[in-house]
Amino acid sequence: MTRINLHAKGAFSPRHLGSGNEGIDRMLETVGVGNVEELIDQTVPEAIRLKQDLMLPDALNETEFLEQFRSIASKNKIFKSFIGAGYHDCHTPTVILRNILENPGWYTAYTPYQAEIAQGRLEALINFQTMVSDLAGMDIANASLLDEGTAAAEAMSMFLALRKGKKKKGNANKFFVDSRVLPQTLSVMRNRALPIGVELVIGDISTLDLTDEALYGVMFQYPDSDGAVTNHKELIETAHANEVKVAASADLLSLAILTPPGEMGADAVVGVAQRFGVPMGYGGPHAGFFATREDYKRQIPGRIIGVSKDRHGDKAYRMALQTREQHIKREKATSNICTAQVLLAVMAGMYGVYHGADGVKNIALRTHGLTKALDKGLASLGYAQLNATFFDTLKIEVSAEEKAEIRRVAEEKQANFRYFDTNHIGVSFDETTTVKELDLVLGIFADVAEKGYDLQAITEEIDFVMPEGLARTSEYMTHEVFQQYHTEHEMLRYIKRLENKDLSLTHSMISLGSCTMKLNATSEMIPVTWPELGKVHPFAPVDQVHGYREIFKNLEAWLSEITGFAGTSLQPNSGAQGEFAGLMVIRAYHESRGEGHRNIAIIPTSAHGTNPASAVMAGMKVVLVNCDDHGNIDVEDLRAKAEEHKDNLSSLMITYPSTHGVFEESVIEICDIIHQNGGQVYMDGANMNAQVGLTSPGNIGADVCHLNLHKTFCIPHGGGGPGVGPIGVAKHLVPFLPGNPLVPEAGGEQAIESISAAPWGSASILPISYAYIAMMGPDGLTQATKTAILNANYIKARLEEAYPILYTGANGRCAHEMIVDFRQFKEFGIEVEDIAKRLMDYGFHAPTVSFPVPGTLMIEPTESESIEELDRFCEALLAIRIEIREVAEGAADATDNVLKNAPHTVDTITADTWNHSYSREKAAYPLGFVRENKFWPSVARVDNAYGDRNLYCSCIPVSDYAEVE
Ligand SMILES: *Cc1c(COP(=O)(O)O)cnc(C)c1O
Repeated sequence: MTRINLHAKGAFSPRHLGSGNEGIDRMLETVGVGNVEELIDQTVPEAIRLKQDLMLPDALNETEFLEQFRSIASKNKIFKSFIGAGYHDCHTPTVILRNILENPGWYTAYTPYQAEIAQGRLEALINFQTMVSDLAGMDIANASLLDEGTAAAEAMSMFLALRKGKKKKGNANKFFVDSRVLPQTLSVMRNRALPIGVELVIGDISTLDLTDEALYGVMFQYPDSDGAVTNHKELIETAHANEVKVAASADLLSLAILTPPGEMGADAVVGVAQRFGVPMGYGGPHAGFFATREDYKRQIPGRIIGVSKDRHGDKAYRMALQTREQHIKREKATSNICTAQVLLAVMAGMYGVYHGADGVKNIALRTHGLTKALDKGLASLGYAQLNATFFDTLKIEVSAEEKAEIRRVAEEKQANFRYFDTNHIGVSFDETTTVKELDLVLGIFADVAEKGYDLQAITEEIDFVMPEGLARTSEYMTHEVFQQYHTEHEMLRYIKRLENKDLSLTHSMISLGSCTMKLNATSEMIPVTWPELGKVHPFAPVDQVHGYREIFKNLEAWLSEITGFAGTSLQPNSGAQGEFAGLMVIRAYHESRGEGHRNIAIIPTSAHGTNPASAVMAGMKVVLVNCDDHGNIDVEDLRAKAEEHKDNLSSLMITYPSTHGVFEESVIEICDIIHQNGGQVYMDGANMNAQVGLTSPGNIGADVCHLNLHKTFCIPHGGGGPGVGPIGVAKHLVPFLPGNPLVPEAGGEQAIESISAAPWGSASILPISYAYIAMMGPDGLTQATKTAILNANYIKARLEEAYPILYTGANGRCAHEMIVDFRQFKEFGIEVEDIAKRLMDYGFHAPTVSFPVPGTLMIEPTESESIEELDRFCEALLAIRIEIREVAEGAADATDNVLKNAPHTVDTITADTWNHSYSREKAAYPLGFVRENKFWPSVARVDNAYGDRNLYCSCIPVSDYAEVE
């Protein structure tokens, strides 16, 4: 007889963790320890272990979480937003919503470093780049930046870098920004200008003296923050005559009908593609964009997708130039952008594909037409509207009483306007606006004016008329990709076709060292597309967002507990932005104590490239510290450098466990040395997956750390973004956490300026990390860390007979990842790249290639992979070891072998001619399990050097491709 337990409930953590007891026992045996505790004791130094369990709420199961979270989300009030100010409601085409945003085939993919198994998202990104550069009237655009504010700051930095060697402007350091640039953009720019010695001048552009010797750049908003559209063609000409460069922060939709700044001569056009089908989500994530002239293509910040060819000469896309830019250029990098906004750029590009040029134009025209009608209606009611020329935004002059009264009536009718500090109201229309909303808005103004209006008359005879030179006449989005997929069937199949070219977590493990590609559970993802979260404007009044506030409050508290810190800011949109934020907080702290001169950042040579890049952005001088033969920081070298620079020491940037995959025993001593010499310890928390519940940055002695919620806390990589990079800080740094000019509640009491445009950054994806913590609970989270360490040590045990494993801890254990060395095969002509590509034939994405050590792979399995998957991965690498041996021993041809020719495509395998020295079967089905789940790379090995020499970064009609060559 079976007794039924009525209280039993299915827990979440066994779904998240890859192996149950039986698998764990098998792994323990291979690793050679009796139990998990023993392994952890051998791995994590006793001195840094937490003395008590995490204080977090008990785990909820999936049903309980979704129920509870629904009730929290429902505390957000969804008002109709007419606020504008850089964020607009829009319709996400449902074919894109379901098949991209809600589809793990798209959202679990990794950054497309392995181009042969990423052609789908690379094509989608090149569509985005083409759409952006066309609309902006520019030559070239990147594959996204983090938001509009940071994109604007990047233009300021790029122009600064372009001064080099210029006779006249070599030392110019003044950047002028029109005061009608969006306030949140101004705040981000202030933060970014300060440390790099740029004098940011904010003023009225119409009175700007362009002959000022010190001036090197200018930026304006188009249409401006008030909604007015101004033709700056002459200004740009005068600027150029004075060797001053000009950037415009532009509304992408408006450019479908307005003359784009590119055609006025601007040197850079930046902005955000949010209103192209991406929900407002209380501030993000959205794809920032950056378009510029061909001349500056080698200075563009962020990633660019380019067209190249594969080894057979067929067209193939890949990331151009900037691939891993910071890793190579480090402190000389043009920006610190690593994770960007790929998924959102893909969505925006697909919005362009689905609507086409005509569709986008019609949306722009309708939005503008309704705004015109509103203008007409307001005039009939006797209101004064200030924008002579506008696209979608009106600025209305009112008395203080009217302003208050209009706000009262509007909120009663669940509508939000923009209320300026002065006696003005802003109203913005968007794609979702209809005559019904026009009527609603007019009704509110009519109520207060105590007058009536004639909707029929107002909506009649609306023509598109712009002043001379402001109506767009040029074509855009003329490439066939923007003409072919306007029906849902065609669109659905196009999206699927691209998806099918890409390897994602839906196929197999992606063991990217440092990037923690763990499970992105469905229950974690479900709330992301709830309207209660998506339809909220970031500047909606505070009393309408109690749901979001509760989410932030809980998540901040949980992350503070997990990091061992006193406070957390959720604002940074990526790990690298977290680094910059943390360093700026440290800077403000030193300044508050009269030690603003402290500007030395000590960084180990093994650090991630974003560390030195961020340090330079924060105005620091980088001093490198060596690592010893075991991969640990050379403590004596560190001590010597800290003492040498003790008068100016700002901080140490340290990754823990180190990027070498080891828990350094000396970390407490290292923190002490820095503190004794007046510095602060910045911990790069990318490896937090090895710490949660066992130790913490606060416990170790750090002062700040960033987390990558898109690594440790389950936000999917989205093919290269979105991400969230919150910072945790010790008590003395809490007052300096970043703020927002429009939302005083965000940030500390002495808040530094904004790091991101939105007060809580990418608010709408925070529920993913929230869900993970809520459903794992304190025990589940700690179990995950232990399992991650076990899984890594299991792989190490299986591979170490075949390959050298670099760097291990005092007891021969690795942390949650390990570095496998392939350098010894170079003498046989085999490069690590060949192994990476050959893994594709086995159905796997390569681990991290050549970071932090060239010629190696860094493997991080995470806790969510089962022993069966780990075994398949190990068997693939072991089989590759045999293939290497065949080459080394001469059994296989030195150049014509499975490694050098990898990956093998269907085309190669099925070609009538096959003249390789090995069989087709060996090429395509090297192991039994591969046959059952074969993933075909869609192109052969991509020629990167060719693509960089012949840089081409937008859609090319297939028929023209030969000409480009
Ligand atoms: C991923 C990573 C970063 C950068 O984080 P992004 O979110 O990509 O900006 C920094 N340091 C380390 C060690 C990382 O692994």
